[in-house]
Order: sequence, then structure tokens, then C-alpha cells
Amino acid sequence: MTLAVINPATEQPIAELDEAGVEETDAAVARARAAFPGWRAVSPSDRARLLRRLATLVEEHSEELARIESQNVGKPISGARAEVGMVAEVFHFYAGAIDKHHGETIPVAGGVDLTFREALGVVGLIVPWNFPLNISSWKLGPALACGNTIVLKPAELTPLSALRLAELILDAQIPEGVVNVVVGPGRVVGQRLVEHPDVAKIGFTGSTEVGRGVMQGAAGTIKRVTLELGGKSANVVFADADLERAAAAAPYAVFDNAGQDCCARSRILVERSAYDRFSELLVDATRRVRVGDPREESTEMGPLISAEHRTTVASFVGGNTLFQGETPDGPGYWFPCTLVEATNDDRVAREEVFGPVAALIPFADEEEAIHIANDTPYGLSGSIWTENGARALRVARALETGVLSINSNSSVRPTTPFGGFKQSGFGRELGMHALDGYSEVKNVFVAT
Ligand code: NAD
Repeated sequence: MTLAVINPATEQPIAELDEAGVEETDAAVARARAAFPGWRAVSPSDRARLLRRLATLVEEHSEELARIESQNVGKPISGARAEVGMVAEVFHFYAGAIDKHHGETIPVAGGVDLTFREALGVVGLIVPWNFPLNISSWKLGPALACGNTIVLKPAELTPLSALRLAELILDAQIPEGVVNVVVGPGRVVGQRLVEHPDVAKIGFTGSTEVGRGVMQGAAGTIKRVTLELGGKSANVVFADADLERAAAAAPYAVFDNAGQDCCARSRILVERSAYDRFSELLVDATRRVRVGDPREESTEMGPLISAEHRTTVASFVGGNTLFQGETPDGPGYWFPCTLVEATNDDRVAREEVFGPVAALIPFADEEEAIHIANDTPYGLSGSIWTENGARALRVARALETGVLSINSNSSVRPTTPFGGFKQSGFGRELGMHALDGYSEVKNVFVAT
């Protein structure tokens, strides 16, 4: 079977690849298993040197990688460059983290008690199509740092950057077999990794629906899982906020990556006394979002990933539309920036749209804001806009969500933990926290 890879901005094929099945997946797991003893035995300083070399190679090939990602996902080239920059930073961070992730000595009677952080073995990494290289690096960095070997399964729609990264990994002299990329359907390759007895852990990013199946499948072998799933995050704007700043930033918190972002603040909650003023400012700011050819330096939003996905996104819009922007003519899976007025019970506020559609929802006071923000099965991200510092912290503590920003919409950094509450998943990526998900704690007592 072959797999045609499409550029969503042109609807034209850009590559044709052989599609892997169960046999190829098993072969990749066997290669990773054979490479494990050698990789685990590489000294921490040498492993760090290899990861640092990989980070440098990513920097040296950043323009090439950004172009691959932009073409394959349809994302604006400026955004793709920033993402590749983060990939290099992530590898630099985990190179430096290797010798700082250590065990403890614990006071006990009759001897000495020590803990060690042991590698797990072969880990399966399954990633989605919205940030293919970035999310791969969030898993590869800590998994490699801890001494694991890897089978990486990119999404079928966007495999190209992972394949190029695999070449750079070899160029960095990370030994053959340590990282294996397998391109194939999720329900075949992904599922085989989830069920494979020689895979110790699955690091999964994707939808809550597929994540639920991953968790069930992993139960058969009591596999460790980290699940980074969907979101329906709230951007909570109080009347005492700097409304101009909040409104200017809000469109990019939903329409970045054409809304195909698990952190999208797609529910904009606004205190009723500021609602009219804020809506006006928000419409103005949304009108200014530049939608068009991802190759143009000035483009801020590209197309959606596929025609099928566009049909799903369109199903959320109808009635109560406050504003809808423009899209280019001609080929490409375009969808306009869309603002709708909603209640938190409407489908557009309950389900993850994963497209450029934001729901504006009014609230009466702080208590109601917290109630609405938490009234969702998800809990990934969110923002709070207020000039009242005590309120900002009070609300931040009350929100059931893993990653928050105050007077900002930015929440993803190589050095800080990222992950969800509730049905947005569990386990943390990035920062030192991610290392816990790719190692086991071993406790050793020595009688003295
Ligand atoms: P998806 O769940 O359809 O696919 C994700 C990956 O899982 C793909 O590689 C896919 O091939 C694979 N897969 C599909 N079926 C499988 C199965 N039965 N067994 C194992 N693997 C299988 O998600 P998507 O459409 O690629 O991505 C969008 C979703 O990802 C959204 O819900 C989004 O919120 C979520 N996401 C979450 C985060 C996060 O960090 N929390 C980040 C990005 C995206």
C-alpha cells in the first residue's frame, strides 16, 4: 500500500510513501529492542553530547524543516520556523537535563536506601498532525535522555518532518535502531505499538476518543501511558482587564494553526459589563488576521488539514455568527476566522472544534466565570485576564486545568510542565517533569 501526502494549501500531492503494517511495526520494535542495551549504557555525558549535536543539526537545517512542515501541514512559514526553533531548544534542554535527573538517599534503619531512575526499554510515541515535529520532540527529548529506545509513529497526514528528523538523528551519530520511524495507519501501526508486549510505554498525543482506546489497549500488558488529549479551554476576560490587550491577543489564541491546537482558547468568557466593548474590539482584531498562502512571510493563518476536517469544522457554525472573515479563492482547505455568540451548553462550546471558530460566552461574576470555565470534560489550558492580582491567582487555583496563563495566552515552554486535567489526559510533557514519564524509580536497600 502507498500513502499520498497532500499539501493542504494546494490540494496537490507532495510525496508518496510506502505504508507500513504490523510486520514493519514488529520489525521496528525488534530493532529498538536490540539497540536498547547499548543506548542505555552510553555514559550520561556522551548521551548529552549526542542530543546536543542533534539540537545543533536541527538549528542548521531549520529552514528546510520549517518548509517541510509548512508544506505538509499548511501552516504559515513564520509559525513553522518558530516551531522548529522550539524543537532545537527542547533537545538542548534534555541534553542538559540528563545528569540532573537523579535519585535520592532516604534515611532508614540498619542501612542505606537509594533510588535509581531506570530506563523503561522500548517506548512507542504516537503523535498527531497539528504540530508533527514539535510534539515528536517533546517525547523524543525526555525518552532519549532517560536511555530508552523508540518507535515513533507520525500521523498519516503529516509524516514528512519525522522522516527527515530520523535522518538527522543518524547524522548526529545517535546509533542506528535507537529511533525508528514507522509511517502507517493509526488503527494498524498505532494499535500494534499499544498492544506489543515488547513496548514498555506509549507516549500518545491525539484526540480524547483515540486516547481512550490507547488506554484500554495498554491495559493488556499494563503498559505505562502518557496521554495528551483534546481541549476546550477558556479565555476568561474580566471587566477590570486591559480589554484592548486581551482583545488584540484573543484571536491568535484560537486561530493560530487555523484553530488546530489542543490549547486553543476556543471559549472566550467575558464579564457581562464589558461584553459589548470587548466584542467590538475582538471583531476588529479578528478582521486583521491575515489568512492566505502559508509561504508568504506575512501570513498568520493557513488552511485546515483536509477536506474532511473542513466539513466537520463547518458543522459547528450556523446561527449566532458574530463575525466571519475572508479566505483565499482557489484550491486549499480554507475556512474563515469565525466568532459565534453562544451559551456553554451549545455544541460549539462543548466539543472540540479544532478549527478557527471561537464561542463568546458572557458571565455575571467571578463565581459564574469559574463555574462555566470548569463545566467541560476537558482541562488542558486557559487564560485569565484581569488587573486584580489576587483575583488572578484565586481564579487560577480554582480552574481545573493543567496549563494557565495570566494576562497572556502563551503556555508552552521547553522548561515548564505541560499536560491536562480531566479528559485532556494525564502525565506531563516538557520540563523536568517529562523525565518521570520515561523512567521507573527503583529502590535499593543496602544493609550496613
Ligand atoms: P487522532 O487521535 O486521530 O490521531 C493521533 C495519532 O493517533 C495519529 O498518529 C493516529 O494515526 C494515531 N491513531 C489513530 N487511531 C489509533 C489507534 N486505534 N491506536 C493507536 N493510535 C492511533 O488525533 P489527530 O486528529 O491526529 O489530532 C488532533 C487531536 O489531537 C485533537 O483532539 C487535539 O486536541 C489533540 N492534541 C492534543 C495535544 C496535547 O498536547 N494535549 C496536542 C496536540 C493535539
